[in-house]
Amino acid sequence: MEAEIIKNLQACQLSVKEEAVTLVNEEDMAVGRHKSMSKAWNMKEIKVERIDTNLSHVFFPSSKEMQRVLSGGPWCFENNVLLMRPWEMGKRPQELMFTHCPFWVHVRGLPPECYTSVVASKLSRVFKDCTVVELREKELDGKWFFRLRVKVDVTISLRRLINLKCGAGTITGLLSYERLPNLCFRSGLLGHLIKECTTNPEERKRDVQYGLWMKSVGEKSRIVQRIKEHGLQDGGTM
Ligand SMILES: [Zn+2]
Repeated sequence: MEAEIIKNLQACQLSVKEEAVTLVNEEDMAVGRHKSMSKAWNMKEIKVERIDTNLSHVFFPSSKEMQRVLSGGPWCFENNVLLMRPWEMGKRPQELMFTHCPFWVHVRGLPPECYTSVVASKLSRVFKDCTVVELREKELDGKWFFRLRVKVDVTISLRRLINLKCGAGTITGLLSYERLPNLCFRSGLLGHLIKECTTNPEERKRDVQYGLWMKSVGEKSRIVQRIKEHGLQDGGTM
């Protein structure tokens, strides 16, 4: 629903009044953002200390609660993903690199004979820190797909497909992502929309390479087999 609203807004030609902007600063929005976090995480006792424009310390009531939030991502606020990592003793927050975020990734479009635990295991090694692999079946049409819990590098374009070499041929599986926030359909990067893209002019001449098809939404499915599970709870829902 939200994606449809954004798509419709992007297609709108704005009037002079609609082009006008009202200035609000970070401080104005900070309180609202903290309330959103408390609500999404079902936690009243968090304390948020702003360090920089896009960097904050979040204090959780317990390490258990912190782990629940860290393992439940991705968390999206104002349609942008919140990159999180535990505080590290002896390091300044500004020195920490925020490059990866956990996502549930679907691998679909493979022939039925590919949906085995052996193939799933090989696929899981393509991704960083794959902790859960499930074989699932869509309720609507009975089609199978793999669902993997992986850490995605958000500093590069999102991966769209995965190739399996099988005998003389190559089989391609398509990737889609649950709870995917703002994605630029030109560069494939998170954090901005196509109208804000700063890719070079040559790239702008290319056809749009990404689209809403990369979002896994509204597809009810059931687990056929849990192939791998390692130290992680199911992701939270928002
Ligand atoms: Zn872009």
